[in-house]
Amino acid sequence: MRKKDRQSQQALKSETSRRTFLKTSAAVAGAALAGAAVKASSASAATQTKSKGTTSLQDVVARPDLWYYPGEEVAPDEMRVTLMGTGWGNIIRPAQMGASIFVELGNGDSFMLDAGPGCITNYNCMQVPMSRMNKIFLTHLHLDHTSDLAWIYSFGPVVDRFVPLEIYGPTGMTPELGTKANIGNGLKALTKWNRDSFAASCPIDDGYKLEIHELDYLKNPGIAYKKNGVTIKHWPALHVIDGAISFKLEWNGLSMVWSGDTQPNQYMTENAKGVDLLIHETAPDPARYAMAQNMPLAVAKNVVKVSHTPAKALGKIFKLTKPRLGVTCHSPVDPQEYDLIHRGVHTHWDGPYQIGEDRMVFNVSKKQIMIRKGALQDRPWSTGVEQPSTTKPALDNRKFRTAIFQEKVLKDY
Ligand SMILES: [Zn+2]
Ligand SMILES: [Zn+2]
Repeated sequence: MRKKDRQSQQALKSETSRRTFLKTSAAVAGAALAGAAVKASSASAATQTKSKGTTSLQDVVARPDLWYYPGEEVAPDEMRVTLMGTGWGNIIRPAQMGASIFVELGNGDSFMLDAGPGCITNYNCMQVPMSRMNKIFLTHLHLDHTSDLAWIYSFGPVVDRFVPLEIYGPTGMTPELGTKANIGNGLKALTKWNRDSFAASCPIDDGYKLEIHELDYLKNPGIAYKKNGVTIKHWPALHVIDGAISFKLEWNGLSMVWSGDTQPNQYMTENAKGVDLLIHETAPDPARYAMAQNMPLAVAKNVVKVSHTPAKALGKIFKLTKPRLGVTCHSPVDPQEYDLIHRGVHTHWDGPYQIGEDRMVFNVSKKQIMIRKGALQDRPWSTGVEQPSTTKPALDNRKFRTAIFQEKVLKDY
């Protein structure tokens, strides 16, 4: 049934692509996705088109009428980006898990950018196997960007990741502030009992090996990864203390940027120019934030000022970088506040812009960026596609049970 749905959706997609081409401004300006909107007048889209010279009027099309069904193949020339967590700091909720972005490429590669609390729920809803979540890039070491790592590391080999987990993250001002100490040593210490327990019951192969790659946070830009036609660059982000970075992933003439948490800065405006998809953090309005958190306004203002990017400043970033599509992420967004965010961004930018939502999917190709939402299966089982090379657990569970415990096992059921 699901396959049939997918086929009919594909047929609808190709059938409607000609019609959407003819609709032009209606398709762009009228596109509204679950309350958020790609706000681009035909005039502004035309300006974009002229300035870039390669895109057409339907360059960015939101398709609230089409679902993304998990399992859909990535086209060979396409970059597919899924927001797996758009939540803000302490505000993690069913509609918005902690920060994480999943990038899949037509060459078969896939990358996770950040792994905030609860994001694994969205990966599972979208039926991403753990074996596809083995390269994780961290913008900084706040737990709203890293806390699901322990789960991913521990449970990966129980499902189907039997290779080392690769984690790429920034150095710190001192070694103890860097990714090796915090994440490498931290994960090992946090998960020892869990790993031994699972290794005594499941075949894990190399699944509990960790490869930590530290990236010099001062480099502008530095190369975080270069393989199989994929280049991932990083540069400094300005976020409270030293050691935060932003990422740009490039492949096949396509590119996306994830800012991570940062104040608006010139490293971003230099490095993100002309990017296809600029996914940028966006701070809540301080007055709203203070009211919701029962926090003194001065504290809320300070959090935003020293660490984050208000919507108006985001508009300025878009104006200076001119992405094909700008996307808000990492902000507690409620429907009644869309207008406030749009007004802030559109102070400086009237090009294509989307307020990001969890499980929102961007199919990025040279021809078009299409925006859809993932169909929600709220009781999915995790999916595995790889098999271990051994079917024996690495550890012998009998070694972990004293005779006295063994005597108490019920056997008569
Ligand atoms: Zn954050
Ligand atoms: Zn942060």
